[in-house]
Amino acid sequence: MSIPLLQQARIGAYVVRQKLAGRRRYPLVLMLEPLFRCNLACAGCGKIDYPNEILNQRLSVEQCLAAADECGAPVVSIAGGEPLLHKEIGAIVAGLLERRRFVYLCTNALLMHKRLAQFTPSPYFVWSVHLDGDEQMHDKSVCETGVYTRAVAAIKAAKERGFRVNINCTLFNDALPERVARFFDHVHEIGVDGITVSPGYAYERAPDQQHFLHREQTRKLFRDVFRRGRGAKAWSFSQSSLFLDFLAGNQTYQCTPWGNPTRNVFGWQRPCYLIGEGYARSFRELMDETDWDAYGTGNYEKCANCMVHSGYEASAVQDAVAHPLKALRVSMRGVRTDGAFAPDIPLTGQRPAQYVHSRHVEHKLAEIRITKARPQPTPTA
Ligand code: SF4
Repeated sequence: MSIPLLQQARIGAYVVRQKLAGRRRYPLVLMLEPLFRCNLACAGCGKIDYPNEILNQRLSVEQCLAAADECGAPVVSIAGGEPLLHKEIGAIVAGLLERRRFVYLCTNALLMHKRLAQFTPSPYFVWSVHLDGDEQMHDKSVCETGVYTRAVAAIKAAKERGFRVNINCTLFNDALPERVARFFDHVHEIGVDGITVSPGYAYERAPDQQHFLHREQTRKLFRDVFRRGRGAKAWSFSQSSLFLDFLAGNQTYQCTPWGNPTRNVFGWQRPCYLIGEGYARSFRELMDETDWDAYGTGNYEKCANCMVHSGYEASAVQDAVAHPLKALRVSMRGVRTDGAFAPDIPLTGQRPAQYVHSRHVEHKLAEIRITKARPQPTPTA
């Protein structure tokens, strides 16, 4: 695992504090989306399909820091859209670091080289560069030639300046296990500190609906990849051993959507980072008034094939805290890549999907237009 000891210790202490306080639901990672605008249009992305008026919205520095204060999660993952398009991203990161949050700045790296000087290496700060495989795989995934080469150049430049750099890699059903394994070997050779890997979530608005993985395909793919790397021990993952074990079909978990609450320009997104079925005005309202039992695999059709880290890493962390020896065993021996799969959750009782995206977009557009139409205060001399 590539998570530094300081980070493991602080997150461990945080989880213990939550347990001692008797909290059943608590956040681990704040997913902060300060904007939806991006400078790429990836085929598997379900985050950028908004009208321009919404793509032009930004969370301010104050809103971002207030979200971190309100939520209290020890880790903040800044996603989007492309966060480096936000003019005040440097101030947002600085404010979070002042609060001693572990910050993962997710980027497609197209602007990273130019913006490196705005940031300072810190044990609390990690660049998380989007790379969905080798040059051919990644450029296909992001629908643009040359992006892989620019991302790798930015990774090397950041490493030279002393930054911690991870990659975040999403796999689809055309991923070839041997090729993925060689890609993981390669990213370590170029100095990447950790890998975050996940199967793609089947976003209903993504332009490409053909390449999302079903659960059975996901479990088989990850076994086939991990087998080529000593049960995943050959590589440094920025994820818990039990989450990797879950991806390979050795654990049955229900998701923990409140583990990674999402704040974006709409508000606090219900129920999770992956689907927006409503928005709360405050973090407390999100936690207290969301019908959590209506979501998750087996409960809701849109959740049927989800095995994404933003939903299940917190489940794995909770399991590791409850069963530390099990987690240690997987870390020491590696992920099991043969034998029977753990039972999967039956889908027979799930409720049908609801399609509410357009309603939320209309609502947000009306809000933006009302705000714009309001008379602006006259500046005082
Ligand atoms: S399974 Fe959980 S994390 Fe995945 S989409 Fe459903 S609610 Fe979100």
